[in-house]
Amino acid sequence: MSSVDLVLVLRYRKAVTYGFHVLLGALEEHETTTSYEVVLAETPEATTTAIEAGLNRAKRVLVLWSFYSPDAEALAAELTTIKAAAPGALHVAGGVHATAEPVQTLDAGWDVAAIGEGETTLLKLVDAGGDPVGVTGLAYRDAAGKVVKTGRPERLPLDTFRGFSLRWHRFNALEITRGCAFSCRFCQTPFMFSARFRHRSVENVRWHVDEMRARGLRDVRFITPTALSYGSQDESPNLDAVEELLATCKEGIGPDGRVFFGSFPSEIRPEHVTREALQLVKKYCSNNNIIVGAQSGSDRVLDAAKRGHGVEEVMRAARLGVEEGFRINVDMIFGMPGEDQADVDASLNLAKELADLGARIHAHTFMPLPGTPWRDAPPGDVDPETIRAVDRLSQQGALYGHWQRQREHAARLAAAAEAYPRPGRSRTLLPIHSTPE
Ligand code: SF4
Repeated sequence: MSSVDLVLVLRYRKAVTYGFHVLLGALEEHETTTSYEVVLAETPEATTTAIEAGLNRAKRVLVLWSFYSPDAEALAAELTTIKAAAPGALHVAGGVHATAEPVQTLDAGWDVAAIGEGETTLLKLVDAGGDPVGVTGLAYRDAAGKVVKTGRPERLPLDTFRGFSLRWHRFNALEITRGCAFSCRFCQTPFMFSARFRHRSVENVRWHVDEMRARGLRDVRFITPTALSYGSQDESPNLDAVEELLATCKEGIGPDGRVFFGSFPSEIRPEHVTREALQLVKKYCSNNNIIVGAQSGSDRVLDAAKRGHGVEEVMRAARLGVEEGFRINVDMIFGMPGEDQADVDASLNLAKELADLGARIHAHTFMPLPGTPWRDAPPGDVDPETIRAVDRLSQQGALYGHWQRQREHAARLAAAAEAYPRPGRSRTLLPIHSTPE
């Protein structure tokens, strides 16, 4: 068996494939003197096997993990099992949770936390033969146990790296925008990727679409924080840029192909929904549904969350969408910080009005996510009467989502935040309606 400098084992889970595909896309174009192999491990058992095999033929084995905050605890348990079964590898955690809570991540058992966007960090790690010391974008403990942070890697234009991997045949919805100029207080996106938009150029998107078509792939979907912000540098949509994007994608994927925009896995802000925008979607795209972010039925809560739109815009967007023949899915979050009974009632009323219009509610429970201004807010709680009302909507088929499970995630995240207090922050001192930074 030939030996290599480095084996990269990707703990490849369905929930995080996209992040890994982007890393693989960056890796496949990178020239390095390090000889390396990549193994995709889809289960804990496969990860253990890959580590053992890797240690037999490589100087170093890096196991790359990526996860969201709600999954951190479960994956820490998995990590413990894998480390016990196959010691000797270096476990590197990336993603938004590791970025926001590097010390928590190290304390949970990972050897290294990757901070910020992973592409350049991975390439430098590979160049260094897998040795993390001094590589920008990492946090780890030195020999004395002191946490060393090497700073955030540079945020590069989106065109710098491929959005999926040709070499490893890993395709996914294409990321067309990273970062978000809106700064909703419950959201990790602006923290992770900055509070400004970086858009993939139309030419670069077209290259990806052409490559997909050449491989027989027919569906083009997009990853973006707010679909109609494509091409914009501020809070208003740029419909010319959106049309250019959709037209070239439609042309590129060909007559048998389909383009989806403003539907899974992205959404549209309600104030961006206009008849003109919807007609663009109808002209170029195959989706018969759109997802609109509403989050609350209370203007007071929307203000506190810095959403930048009100309830009226949500209803207007839903009515317009229905008039233009779309099925409407509306994202809502229950248990937002500082909600009182009037706010809860307003959200339930909005949900019912939307359901009467034929919309479906995608329900979430508020989670105090690391890195966000509301990291130290109390976990989302939903009172029994609200649960019954939400359940009724669910039984009618008007509501779906993992909001019940998210109540448990929220409680766990709050406990973790309490165990790792931020200097000067305290849950009991958090003035929800004056909303701190
Ligand atoms: S919730 Fe959406 S619009 Fe608000 S900051 Fe996050 S990505 Fe941007």
